[in-house]
Amino acid sequence: MEAHAAYVVRLKLRPAGYRRMESILGCLNWLYNQALECRKTAYEQRKESLSFYDQCKWLTQLRTANEHDLGEIAIGASRGMLKRLDLAFQAFFRRVRAGQAPGFPRFRPLSRCRTIDVADPHNGMVSRHNGDYLIRLKGFPRLRVRSARPLPLDAPLKSVRLTQRGCRWEASLVYAVDKQPLAPSVAAVGIDMGVRKRMTCSDGTVLARAQRDWKRKRRLQRSVSRGRKGSATRRKRVAALQRFDRKQYIRERNACHRATTGIIRRHGLIAVEALKVTNMTRSAKGTADKPGSNVKAKAGLNREVLAQNWSLLQSQLRYKAAWGGREYVEVDPKHTSQDCSRCGTRNHPGHSETYRCGACGLVADRDVNAAANILAAGVLAAGASTWAVRPCVAPEPYARVA
Ligand SMILES: [Zn+2]
Repeated sequence: MEAHAAYVVRLKLRPAGYRRMESILGCLNWLYNQALECRKTAYEQRKESLSFYDQCKWLTQLRTANEHDLGEIAIGASRGMLKRLDLAFQAFFRRVRAGQAPGFPRFRPLSRCRTIDVADPHNGMVSRHNGDYLIRLKGFPRLRVRSARPLPLDAPLKSVRLTQRGCRWEASLVYAVDKQPLAPSVAAVGIDMGVRKRMTCSDGTVLARAQRDWKRKRRLQRSVSRGRKGSATRRKRVAALQRFDRKQYIRERNACHRATTGIIRRHGLIAVEALKVTNMTRSAKGTADKPGSNVKAKAGLNREVLAQNWSLLQSQLRYKAAWGGREYVEVDPKHTSQDCSRCGTRNHPGHSETYRCGACGLVADRDVNAAANILAAGVLAAGASTWAVRPCVAPEPYARVA
């Protein structure tokens, strides 16, 4: 099984290296804006839409003339920038077709240009160097990389991306590696996603709710808005806020990885609900003539829902299942929290944490009951009878409460 594995590593630069990276960003951002300008004028004056390849040809002319020092920078980095613009246009046309608010690609100030994608990377770009690694790109400074995990230098290199985060630079290297499937397992599990408990498995294991430090975040945001625009103090405060967000994100991502890896190792079939997070977290604000009700409460709930990162959890489960040779199914979540997982009667549990069935007397945790329903639907959808569906009804302690 070929899988793409990303290695995100910090770049170690010298002071001159940082300055050089800034000036490269300047050149590439100029290229982005210039390419956008070309596309706009081509359409406005000649009703012509330029493609990525047209723009690559145009780039060759720019490089020959060494316009804006572009000739001195690796061509992959410039092409990567044109690719980004192309993606922005593709996304624009997709939204137009879907009838959504389109948002035409905009000119970008240098302060919003933080990422360099290198198009068509090849393995010669990354090499070993005195126990570290070195990324070699024409016109770039020495990009020294220290990685905690050894890089699979022999595997095909799929993408190279350099990103500035605060005052640091990071490289994301993606390699196509061979993944060995996990030892087969007949155990199946259903997972219910929620806010009070983030994930509840049908066997009763629970991933606790994600705690965010909203207070600290608000304090940092307020300190930013107090600073005068363009001042050095404000810049420092923005950097502090960015650092805080980044730290929280990494902590969060690691927690999700720990949870999902465990689930994938233990089970051969993983059933989750197909969630529509965008629909669920739509604002209750309404319009000026028709204001919605409970706007503040809904906004708070939306924030909590998004903080649980269900989509991240699901995407990790999805790709890890593919890597490990596991089956992953998404089922319709309709009625999963109302139906009884033992007899199938539809009850109305309200907001209570405990699920009680009026027909068969089942007393269960409401999320475990939902997870059991998801599991049942998942096993049906997978269409196999080989799955060992362990306690599909309430685990012992709950049954005894009855
Ligand atoms: Zn029942």
